[in-house]
Parts: sequence; structure tokens; C-alpha cells
Amino acid sequence: MCGIIGYNGHKNSIKVLINGLKALEYRGYDSAGIAYYNGKRMEIIKTSGRIFNLEKKLKPNIQSNIGIGHTRWATHGKPNDINSHPHRMGKFTIVHNGIIENYEELKKGLIKKGYKFKTETDSEVIAALLDFIYSTEKDVLKTISLLEEKLIGAYALGILCDDEPNILYATRKDSPLIVGIGNKENFIASDVPAILKYTNQYIIIEDNEIVKIDDKVTVYKNLNETEKKVLTFEGNLEVAEKNGFDHFMLKEIHEEPSVIKNTTEPFLADGLESLIQNMPNFSQYKRIEIVGCGSAYHAGLVGKAIIEKYTNTPVAVYIASEFRYQKLFTDKETLVIFISQSGETADTLASLRKIKSQNIDSLAIVNVVGSSLAREAKNTIYIKAGPEISVATTKAYLAQVAVLSLIALNLGYKQKIISENKANDIIKSFIKLPTYIEDIIDKNYKQIAKTLYKKNICFYIGRGIDYALSMEGSLKLKEISYIVSMCYPAGELKHGTISLIDKGTNVISVITDKTIADKTLSNIKEVKSRGAVVTLVTTEEIANDFADVNHKVIIPKTNDFINPMIAAIPLQLISYETAKLRGCDIDKPKNLAKSVTVE
Ligand code: GLU
Repeated sequence: MCGIIGYNGHKNSIKVLINGLKALEYRGYDSAGIAYYNGKRMEIIKTSGRIFNLEKKLKPNIQSNIGIGHTRWATHGKPNDINSHPHRMGKFTIVHNGIIENYEELKKGLIKKGYKFKTETDSEVIAALLDFIYSTEKDVLKTISLLEEKLIGAYALGILCDDEPNILYATRKDSPLIVGIGNKENFIASDVPAILKYTNQYIIIEDNEIVKIDDKVTVYKNLNETEKKVLTFEGNLEVAEKNGFDHFMLKEIHEEPSVIKNTTEPFLADGLESLIQNMPNFSQYKRIEIVGCGSAYHAGLVGKAIIEKYTNTPVAVYIASEFRYQKLFTDKETLVIFISQSGETADTLASLRKIKSQNIDSLAIVNVVGSSLAREAKNTIYIKAGPEISVATTKAYLAQVAVLSLIALNLGYKQKIISENKANDIIKSFIKLPTYIEDIIDKNYKQIAKTLYKKNICFYIGRGIDYALSMEGSLKLKEISYIVSMCYPAGELKHGTISLIDKGTNVISVITDKTIADKTLSNIKEVKSRGAVVTLVTTEEIANDFADVNHKVIIPKTNDFINPMIAAIPLQLISYETAKLRGCDIDKPKNLAKSVTVE
């Protein structure tokens, strides 16, 4: 889900494309490539790995004034040379940013029509589809306009056609696309940084609009020319990279609605049917173990709470660095789930290899396609979070919880603990989840942060699933704000830790589980009466019963499958706002690395 760039003008396109791709590097990528017209034919140069690998493959003195470029973040197919973009079929060469959900079905149809596919990507079908439509339509613009009714999913496309080699086309749906307006030269790009070296004038392209760039820019809507407003980007490169947000962490929190949609859609698109078909069947296992580090471990704890509540399957959750040296109690009836954003976390990988050596079944839940965990586990489910730049995870954690929650739903339904009606209702709530998340992101957390940021200590308390959520809230706060933050099961406080609660001590409590709300509310009273300043994250119905806290964040009352994800957002944003007030380097906290590939 990474970056595209395109150029048509008087300069050497190779240089512009490479500079554009370099400016999009911040988005994260695993491969890069360009296609250009050299006056005789379209050429494609592409490679897995970094842009400098691509530069090494380029011959000097290439003459070209038009081309397209791509940095790939693999979603379908390994990040190798062949799967890298651009892709070419018949007369069409394309770069694609996004995911085509119905590519398998399209591919089958196109194979029957004689198209031969070379890659494992979803994107290659777009080039074939364009070529196929064009063979009857004979009009590039009309051909591109027909994609809208054929493609399901998200796409921003840069398109070149052999019959009009001096024209650059582009279109989009649900993936970003802008057009850069220069002096006798024009650009397409996923994002403003890619063009800033050349121009700060740009147009935002809307869904299903088509861009045609010859010696000018024309934008079409329903095949009619449409007027577009030319905007001026006032900020610098850094502002552009963060898409106007102060930090990548905040940008990534704002991406959570679309990440949840992308991650869950394959399991929900056709209701229960999709879940049953697309979620591997785990009902033969008598026991589940979940292994992860840091936030992935915490996602596992949330997963345990949901799975155990709605299935008959017991779940144990382990920290990978402990698991790898522990005695194993797994057997052939155990499924071990490994969670890691990068899919390269050293301890998690070592743990997978340990259980594999005993022939135990495994499932990897990872973000990076083709990563070691994905390759080595028996089954893999990809969260579709896209590249995460901020060291402190937000969107990947949330997507991991979403997958575990769907596993619980599938298993509970198969074990007949969840009825068909209930399962359908839960699926409906998953579809609404991105909207709930949007609403909760929009609340103001600055006031709470003002209470937290001056103290060097903070406590998180919760019970059951709310304890699991609090663990992640607490980790987020310590990671990025350097406040000593501790998390306890609420009932455990009085067994020692309550001695640390004084006048003004900050306590954050999460209560989403109504069945044990009263118990935690009593614990809140206990810390309150010792002077604690309490922030409560809870649902409407629980909040109404209990007014006596300093700050309340109210989340909608939904169900146990999606409530935890909604409740996670305020905790992320409270940590973010607090770290900001403390002036911390939020995206790169001291001593931390994004992908922990050492033991
Ligand atoms: N889904 C496409 C692929 O895996 C495009 C990914 C991207 O946007 O980089 O090749």
C-alpha cells in the first residue's frame, strides 16, 4: 500500500521518478520499480529491496520524458523482483497502490481469455483487464472508466498505453492520488512530498476521476471534463510526509478506521459466509497458545479474554522471550498463534521454530507480507495495516486484536456457543467499527494529558479484558512519554501497590465489561479516597452509574468483540497528548527500535 509517482514533461523522467520515489520512502516499502517510454518502447526496471538497488540496475544516459514509478508494500505475493511493480500486460503498463479484493475471480476469467500471468500480485490483473477492455473499446479513457465497475477494492493507478506513449493516465478509488502542476511538466503522486522538489502546486483527485496528462492536465468525471482547484502546499517536506499531522503516531491513529476495514473485510464482505470460508478452521484444536512481545503480547491477552468468553477453548498467552526457553506443554491438539507486526521479531521467530521442531501447528498474525514468520508458520493471517513508521505501534496492535476477535467469533460459532443470529449481529457491528473509531478519535484528550504530564508516575487498573487493554495503555504511556507507568489487575492493588497511591497520584481505569464493572468501580473508590486523580474510560451505561471521577471518556456500548478496539483508541491518544506536552520525541522514543530482530 505504498507509493506511486508519474511524470510527463521536458526533464529526464528517470531522475524525476527516482527523486519522487526517494521522497516517498518514509511510507515504508519492500521493492521499487519504474517504467518509461524511451521513444521506441516501454521499458520496465524493477527490483526487491531499496531504491539504490533500482538505481544500480539503471543504465546511464536513458532518454525519456514520461514514466511511472512505484514503491511496493507487498499485500499479495512475496516482495521479490517479479512481483515488484510496474506490471505490464499487452499494451498496458501500470503501477498500483492498494488492494484488489476480487482479483482471483478476475484472474480466472482473464486466464480463460488467454492472458498469462507472471506474478502473484493482485495488481497484475489490472493491466490485463485494461488490455482486455481496450481490445474492444479502442479508447484509453473509456477503458479506464470501465475499471470502476469491475474492480472491488482500493486503487491508485498510474497507467501508460503503448498506443498513446506520450500520455500519462491515472485514476483512483479509496487510495490517495494527487496531480502536481509544474511549468510545462506535470506529475502524479500518492502524496505531496514526491513532487515538492519540483512544484508546490497540486490538485487532489477524487474517487473515480481520471487524469490525462499530455502537454496539459485534464481531469474527467464520468467521462466529462471537470474543473479542479489548484492548491498550494505551504509546508516543508517534513510536514508533507506526515500528511499534516504533527507525528506519524497521530497519522497512524487516524488511519485506524481504514486499517480495520482492510483487515476485516475479507472475513466480512459476504457476512458469515465469508468468515466461514476465509478464516482457517481451528475447531479441531483443544487448546490455543498465543506468543508475542510487547504490544503483540497485549493483543494476545485481549484475544484470550474474548476467545475464552465465547468458546470452549482455553488460551494461554506467553511472552516470546520467556516461551522460547520454557518447557513446552503443547501437543498435536494445540494451535500456537504467533503475533508480530514485522514478522521478524527475533524471540517470536525462535519460539515458532521451537514448536515447529515438535510438529505443532502454528498460525502467524503479521503485517509484513513474505516476512520470516509468514513464511515459516503453517498458516498466516495478514493484518492489512500498511507500513507503520512510529516506533510505538497503534494501528498494527488494533488490527491484531481485530483478527483475534474474528477468530473468537468463528470458533464460537463453530462450537455452537454463538448462534447464527448473534454471529450476524456481531458481523454487522464489525462493519460499523470504523465509524465508531472515527468518532472516538475526534474526542479531545488534551485535558486528560494536562493532568498526567507533570507527574512521573501513573497507574492503570482494570479487570479481565479491561486489564489486558490497560496493559497496552500503560505500555504506550511509558514508551513515548517516559512516565513510570504500572498496570495492575484492579483487585490486586490492595495487596501491596495501594501504598503508592497518594494525593494527586494519577490512576487510569478501563471498564468495558459490565459483568465485573461494580468490582472495579469499588477499586476506583478506594484509590479516590486516598487522593488519586482518576481517569475512567468506559461505556455509557457504566458511566451513568458512576460519576465520581476526574475525567471520563465515554465509548459507545457495543459488544465484547468490538468494544476492546474502541476502548484502545483513547488510551493511545491520552499517551500521545501526554508525550507531546512533555516534549518527547514521539515517533522515535529513546532506546527503542521498531523491529526487534535481536534477542
Ligand atoms: N497489492 C499490491 C501488491 O501487493 C500493491 C501494494 C502496494 O500498494 O504497494 O503488489
